[in-house]
Amino acid sequence: MVDRLANTEENNRRMKHVEDCFGTSGQSLVSVGRVLVGEGVLTKLCRKKPKPRQFFLFNDILVYGTILISKKKYANQHIIPLQEVKIITLEDDGNFKNGWQIISPSKSFAVYAATPTEKAEWMAHINKCINDLLKKTGKKPSGEEAAVWVPDQSANVCMLCQKTKFTTIVRKHHCRRCGSVVCGNCSSKRFLIPHISSKPVRVCDQCYDKMSSGAVKPDEPFNKSTEGKIRADSKNSLSRNEAEKLAESGSSAEESDGEEENGDMQQPTSFYEEGEESKEPARPNDPPAAT
Ligand SMILES: [Zn+2]
Ligand SMILES: [Zn+2]
Repeated sequence: MVDRLANTEENNRRMKHVEDCFGTSGQSLVSVGRVLVGEGVLTKLCRKKPKPRQFFLFNDILVYGTILISKKKYANQHIIPLQEVKIITLEDDGNFKNGWQIISPSKSFAVYAATPTEKAEWMAHINKCINDLLKKTGKKPSGEEAAVWVPDQSANVCMLCQKTKFTTIVRKHHCRRCGSVVCGNCSSKRFLIPHISSKPVRVCDQCYDKMSSGAVKPDEPFNKSTEGKIRADSKNSLSRNEAEKLAESGSSAEESDGEEENGDMQQPTSFYEEGEESKEPARPNDPPAAT
């Protein structure tokens, strides 16, 4: 049980180190009962392209950020409560290997590990944390999930009207409900999807019509098989070659979005629940450290 590490010096030292690496740009991560289960670099499929991100799996949250200096400085901290997370394995596709989707109510995306073993380890640890947490809290996941966004490069024309060609002036937009890349004309309306934002968010006309007519509720996850028409028969999906080019361009510095990219995929993934206890025996009867 990972929880044996809770309140051990070793675990607190690790958590403090992660907190320090994010500095003032991040939130406080050290807390009673929290355990840092593992950490490593994963390739996150972002809107523009795949990018290396440092991930930290705690027993109750998943934290990730951009790597400024490996093991020393991270930025753009994101925290996802594990209680609402679901993971789905992805088949290998060209250069996109060892991947899975991280689905949560507010944000969903795909990540890729360096090897099949790392993928298996990550997925097993994440699922274990989710199950332990749900058991401990007795809560049930809400079932709300944000759609995984289609990467920008996957669409040269609007996935909804299939007409508007994207250029440097004609911008691409993402429907917050189905994740499709659509033109401004096809996504001029906003709709309130509370698990994504407290303000109404951009949605495509198709999703708008479904939600405003009551055909689907805003908290119902987008269902690719029953309503994924615009995504399923899009003629704009990536060809294998394009997907490989996209994967290869992973860490190149073209088109910076203001984040430094010094991701080092050679950094090994570490999981802490085993092998370290002998050094730092857990003391479950100790009172929690004062904070
Ligand atoms: Zn359109
Ligand atoms: Zn949509």
